[in-house]
Amino acid sequence: MAKIFCVANQKGGVGKTTTTVNLSAGLAKLEQRVLLVDLDPQGNATMGAGINKASLASSIYQVLLGEADVAAARQRSEAGRFDVLPANRELAGAEVEMVALENRERRLKEALAAVDEEYDFILVDCPPALSLLTLNGLCAAHGVIIPMQCEYYALEGLSDLVNTIKKVHANLNTDLRIIGLLRVMFDPRMTLSQQVSKQLEQHFGDKVFKTIIPRNVRLAEAPSYGMPGVVFDPSSKGAQAYIAFGAEMVERIKTM
Ligand code: ADP
Ligand code: MG
Repeated sequence: MAKIFCVANQKGGVGKTTTTVNLSAGLAKLEQRVLLVDLDPQGNATMGAGINKASLASSIYQVLLGEADVAAARQRSEAGRFDVLPANRELAGAEVEMVALENRERRLKEALAAVDEEYDFILVDCPPALSLLTLNGLCAAHGVIIPMQCEYYALEGLSDLVNTIKKVHANLNTDLRIIGLLRVMFDPRMTLSQQVSKQLEQHFGDKVFKTIIPRNVRLAEAPSYGMPGVVFDPSSKGAQAYIAFGAEMVERIKTM
């Protein structure tokens, strides 16, 4: 049975997609079977995994509307050695079209059940909003990974996300919990980064992952080559950190 994790934070540009793509590739390097689910109409995770979002025969859009199953819509990221349920702009329409459907917040959960046995990890890259798409991710998942930058406004908005997760837990998915906060784009030379990082540890204790992802230009360059950073430059500090995070997640699921 696959463990399903959402990478979520309703802020944009906080490292969700970079985390989903590189954690997927890091876990694949550790011989884990991974499906990356792109739940963002921007399709950045799809592109970052080396799949052309402009030429998809079917995508997560058809899956959510019940017009295709996951097995038909998924593709292989040859670079990353994981599977991808891809997305493109079409997905933005699903938000509206799903409203009229039965079980509208459980469409993804029901679709993933069919491939559950084929994977160790299913990682869902959420869009930057607490929308019906994100709700589908949260209803399907066992846990949430929250990437955060250690900056002054880091904690702002976190309570909205935490409250949403609590509501989903209470009403829709009792499995759901926060697995952890992941410090990303970390710059150890900045005193503020160090301070915010310490505050996170004091506030959230073992809900803060041990691994810290540094700011690393190789991670930012990799998508333009259609490769996860972990594959593009495996010896870079960013790649090494995501592989270490993969190992931390493999350990973490043993106790779930
Ligand atoms: P989100 O999916 O939350 O919008 P992204 O993963 O797309 O965020 O990241 C936003 C931008 O920051 C992208 O340009 C990405 O390449 C860059 N980025 C993310 N993580 C890092 C990092 N650790 N080091 C350097 N650049 C990063
Ligand atoms: Mg993104």
